[in-house]
Amino acid sequence: MNIILMGLPGAGKGTQAERIVATFDIPHISTGDMFRAAVKEETELGLEAKSYMDKGLLVPDEIVIGIVRDRLSKDDCAKGFLLDGFPRTVPQAEALSATLKELGRELEHVINIDVRREVLVERLTGRWICKTCGASYHTVFNPPKVEGICDKDGSELYQRDDDKAEVVTQRLDVNIAQTQLLVDYYDGQGLLRTINGEQDIEVVFEQIASLLRG
Ligand code: AMP
Repeated sequence: MNIILMGLPGAGKGTQAERIVATFDIPHISTGDMFRAAVKEETELGLEAKSYMDKGLLVPDEIVIGIVRDRLSKDDCAKGFLLDGFPRTVPQAEALSATLKELGRELEHVINIDVRREVLVERLTGRWICKTCGASYHTVFNPPKVEGICDKDGSELYQRDDDKAEVVTQRLDVNIAQTQLLVDYYDGQGLLRTINGEQDIEVVFEQIASLLRG
């Protein structure tokens, strides 16, 4: 079970990734998580990655490809893996293909959780967070009882800077352009499986699971 999971910010990729790895018992390989861990531990890789991450830039391909190659060679990947956040560029996709070939493995599915841009904007810009306890609300999907106030402790809610409309649309547009190149790349190889991510979380998961069960 060698899988890539793709989805734009707000598509529900994190939620589905958790369920997939728990159900199919495969390691969850998130390059974003690996870089955040390296930054926290202040390793050489972390220090290098941080300078790009802080600016919202992609870490250079050769660095990312190196850490993914090491990770995929570990024993726990023998039964399969779920790649999340990688590949992000066509050279990364090509390097992945070469690495898997070296390891005698093949990609089975590239799952793209598809959600329209306007729905993503609504999901991403509706999030409000409690200043005190960090509880998260959504103006449409999970509104607090009183607008702007936390149900749990009555504190004020605030919107994160990167959830504001201007930032969200900018972040989405960069991601859409990158993702499209990979969608075309994997579609051309006959590996792309598109799932409608505008359905219920459970329904999205069931469709992914049935695809993976073959
Ligand atoms: P993520 O949590 O997947 O959004 O990743 C957080 C940050 O880590 C990104 O903004 C990039 O700076 C870096 N990163 C994660 N995955 C990759 C990748 N495949 N290629 C380049 N940079 C990456």
